[in-house]
Amino acid sequence: MKSREEREPALLSIIIPMFNEEASIDGLFGRLLATLDTHGVNAEIICVNDGSADNTWDRLVAWRAKVDNLILVDLSRNFGKEIAVTAGLDVAEGNAVVIMDGDLQHPPETIIEFMKLWRVGFDIVYGVRSDREHDGFLRSCLSNMFYRVFNSLSKTPITPDAGDFRLMDRKVVDAIRRMRERARFMKGIYSWVGFKSVSVEFDVEERRHGKSSFSPVRLLALAFDGLLSFSTAPLKAAVLFGAFFALFAISLGMFYMFRTLLLGVDVPGYASIIVSTLALSGLILLQLGIMGLYLGRIYEEVKARPLYLVRDIVGKAPSDGSAGIAASTMRQIKSLV
Ligand code: UDP
Ligand code: MG
Repeated sequence: MKSREEREPALLSIIIPMFNEEASIDGLFGRLLATLDTHGVNAEIICVNDGSADNTWDRLVAWRAKVDNLILVDLSRNFGKEIAVTAGLDVAEGNAVVIMDGDLQHPPETIIEFMKLWRVGFDIVYGVRSDREHDGFLRSCLSNMFYRVFNSLSKTPITPDAGDFRLMDRKVVDAIRRMRERARFMKGIYSWVGFKSVSVEFDVEERRHGKSSFSPVRLLALAFDGLLSFSTAPLKAAVLFGAFFALFAISLGMFYMFRTLLLGVDVPGYASIIVSTLALSGLILLQLGIMGLYLGRIYEEVKARPLYLVRDIVGKAPSDGSAGIAASTMRQIKSLV
């Protein structure tokens, strides 16, 4: 862990993805800039316009004239929040990076709390909503169910209440930037990279302007994306079913055989049809499952995630710096030699 002095942010990057947020921008900048000013934070604010259909971009450009440290990224169309955030991460240069929503549901004042914890050595500080009462009953039931299924299937569990509102150290950002997979389930990615993390509670306010762009259907699609990106268990399920059917067919076959030997045939052909259907479908499923096992492996390889990530290296610089070392760690090592 670094000492206190070293962990002053020379620059804090704040990434805000925006999709049809023209009505929120003025209020957001008012509060955000005031907070940064009061606490003397040197920050760059990166707004990613994710193909908004309203005047979000014009509004942002107007603010750019007044605010020097504003960086604007205009995506060519709507790519979705997860990709908009990634675009922001690619641009960010700060040694700590905050991600927040543009609809004021993430209070800018909480950023100061985040920074306090980052200063004492936490690499990820994530916001946890103090209540979920703004969500309907059905939505919270379904999301609880999703987290239970996800965490039982995935090797890297995710914390249910942790969202995108968070501060990350440069080395975490560098690690995330190395994960270029297309299906970007950010919650899964955040937990996959690991590092020392801590949570901070914040109050979610009601969305004041516009409406949430995450409809139930979109949330469901995101849930599937998450499950499929972080688990190959569904692919392998066929092996279990197949093996079960095949075993069942064998037992049934033996049962019919002995019964026929002892009691004779009652319905001719029945036993052989049932047994062969079961055995064959069992074998087909088993084979499908085996394909699934290989496909799962191919999928893992294609994602080309880093093999591991290094938190810190003490004493020895690696002979080959290529593998798995976060770029910031490499920079530190280089600056030491
Ligand atoms: N957002 C985005 N692209 C999208 C959808 C949303 O950049 O396709 C942004 C949006 O402008 C906001 C944040 O992501 O800053 C969260 O979106 P929203 O408030 O609709 O989601 P919720 O708060 O319901 O999770
Ligand atoms: Mg919102």
